[in-house]
Amino acid sequence: MKKTISIIGGGASAIILACELDPKKYSVSIFEKNTALGRKFLVAGDGGLNLTHSENEKEFISRYTPNDFLKKAFSHFSNKDLIAWINKLGVETFVGSSGRVFPKKGIKPIDVLNAMEEELKNQAVKINFKHEWQGFSETNELIFKTAAGTKKIKSDLTVFCLGGASWPVTGSKGDWLEIFEEKNIKVIPFSASNCSFKIEWPKNIIKSIEGKPLKNISVKCNNKIHFGEVVITSGGLEGSGIYPLSPQIREELNKKNEAKIFIDLKPDLSFDEMIERISKPSSKLSYTENLVKQLNLNKTQIVLLKSKLGKSDFLDPITLVNNLKNFELTISSLGPIEDAISTVGGISLNEISENFELKKMKNNFVIGEMLDCDAPTGGYLLQSCFSMGKFLANHLNDRV
Ligand SMILES: Cc1cc2nc3c(=O)[nH]c(=O)nc-3n(C[C@H](O)[C@H](O)[C@H](O)COP(=O)(O)OP(=O)(O)OC[C@H]3O[C@@H](n4cnc5c(N)ncnc54)[C@H](O)[C@@H]3O)c2cc1C
Repeated sequence: MKKTISIIGGGASAIILACELDPKKYSVSIFEKNTALGRKFLVAGDGGLNLTHSENEKEFISRYTPNDFLKKAFSHFSNKDLIAWINKLGVETFVGSSGRVFPKKGIKPIDVLNAMEEELKNQAVKINFKHEWQGFSETNELIFKTAAGTKKIKSDLTVFCLGGASWPVTGSKGDWLEIFEEKNIKVIPFSASNCSFKIEWPKNIIKSIEGKPLKNISVKCNNKIHFGEVVITSGGLEGSGIYPLSPQIREELNKKNEAKIFIDLKPDLSFDEMIERISKPSSKLSYTENLVKQLNLNKTQIVLLKSKLGKSDFLDPITLVNNLKNFELTISSLGPIEDAISTVGGISLNEISENFELKKMKNNFVIGEMLDCDAPTGGYLLQSCFSMGKFLANHLNDRV
């Protein structure tokens, strides 16, 4: 007799898991509260569906917080395996100049989702839409709210794939923390990751800097430095140049209520090189014109420097270059969770075994963004969902 598996939630982690469970061993049902699968997956594809990253295993694993979080699952289903899996579904991929992996030009996120849904059909997975999981009955049946009223379902195994708490419009609201808490399972309140970071810009400069990028910079918080690009918003900073520092910034905010970051606006030039370049100004150029020319500074950088330094400091080459190499900004809070790309928080990693089984609720598993771990953008978020889903499918297929 086949065992029954209920997968609750219908995002990336649920889909690969359901595709990869052996239909000869399991009768698989997905329960999703929306009327469609993968709404966040589609949102993720809005600016280009970054499926994974092509870098080597050692570097890849180090992107996660905690560092060893994905090690085992990734060794079973790596970025190369994910690319092969997607290709097998008929979706061709390419590696961009940054090493990120995308579907080939012309393939839309909905095409990728359709290809995965086709595979669900092939695997005879039953999909139940408009089923909102609401908790457990006294005898640990799963309780669902449906259009026809409350429904109780008993299954041999249950896998929770409820997602994080950002972009609640996609269905992942993180509103299930209390249900697990009542089962004595430790949960961590959600907070934003890969989000905007709030900075109080001087009012008189906002108009001239809002929407402007700072390219080819490095950003440092605590001992972590990341190179990239950020965009200045009216309320702070965002972008791939600062997202990977989310764990460090969050930690500082928790400890001190503010986080200092230091931007090197010219990481390719040393302090001495810059001093050398600006020390022999041409008599035809003003002091600022000479800075712009010799150091290749743009208007936004000049506005930022002038807003921070008084006139005498701006005119002092050593103070000026010190600030170019170490431009200090204070982050007062994380941006709203609703707008964040991902979240941390959810089920504590201490609560799950190495096979993603809840230690206090045998035969119940948790995978995907609902686990308390962090990863930057760049394909690492989806890869972790796919690696966990495939790893768990292999584990369960081997178990019966
Ligand atoms: C704007 C944006 C851009 C992104 N870009 C990228 C990117 O380019 N690359 C990348 O790697 N990652 C990206 N991500 C992150 C990535 O999309 C997510 O990490 C990933 O989709 C999470 O998958 P999941 O399966 O854990 O959860 P989700 O995809 O969030 O799925 C959870 C599902 O559970 C359902 N659900 C929730 N509660 C219940 C309930 N009580 N009952 C029944 N169903 C329920 C939800 O409706 C939802 O369908 C992006 C995210 C956002 C918001």
